[in-house]
Amino acid sequence: MFLPFAAIHDLLFPPRCLGCALRLGSSRPPLLCPDCAADLVVLGSPLCTCCGVPFPGGADHLCGDCLLGSHGFDLARSLLQYKPPVSDLILSLKFTGNLATIATIRELMARTGIMDHFTEPEIVLPVPLHVDRLRQRGFNQAMVLAKGCLPQWQKRIAPLVLRRHQPTLPQSSLSGKERRTNLIRAFSVAEPAVVRGAVVLLVDDVYTTGSTVNACSKVLRTAGAKRIEVLTVARSFAG
Ligand SMILES: [Zn+2]
Ligand SMILES: [Zn+2]
Repeated sequence: MFLPFAAIHDLLFPPRCLGCALRLGSSRPPLLCPDCAADLVVLGSPLCTCCGVPFPGGADHLCGDCLLGSHGFDLARSLLQYKPPVSDLILSLKFTGNLATIATIRELMARTGIMDHFTEPEIVLPVPLHVDRLRQRGFNQAMVLAKGCLPQWQKRIAPLVLRRHQPTLPQSSLSGKERRTNLIRAFSVAEPAVVRGAVVLLVDDVYTTGSTVNACSKVLRTAGAKRIEVLTVARSFAG
């Protein structure tokens, strides 16, 4: 009997749900059982036309924060709300860089059409990790995401343009405004000529307060970026 490679692979390494580890019948992404798939919250309209925060009802409009010009980017969109099973997906991405996780995220991105919101970028910048963290973990999950989920823009990924340094002061010792300044100082643009006048796509795993991508956006804007858009897999909402 002849079995295709995929079938042999599934026999040897039975695919499991990335949320609850339930055994699945096929390794075709998304690797989620029906229960976990039903728990996904896709972030769509109605939402803030700038930062992408969802609203309970009504039409798309600018949120209060964006009306005040609080963000350094032009547009931010997240694929899913950060809660189980998405939090499990993110953990697996952060600590194992699991290929099945990447394939699952890529498939969910395709199904939701999230990339339709974005302008075609000239450069794709994964949010960098500090070099000590990178050494500890062995890879940057934002880079793994950009490489695995944006095949159309592989050649535009520029891993060395944005740098992350050790923050000057520990964040915990600072007030809100000082934290933001401290975080901005943690990023720098190593190749300003690449950024000047460019449409930039920043990629990261999770958007919580937006402080990290805002800090990146500030230094990119100073370096002359024309447009800055932010793609994150998950968005977490405090409270
Ligand atoms: Zn499951
Ligand atoms: Zn907003």
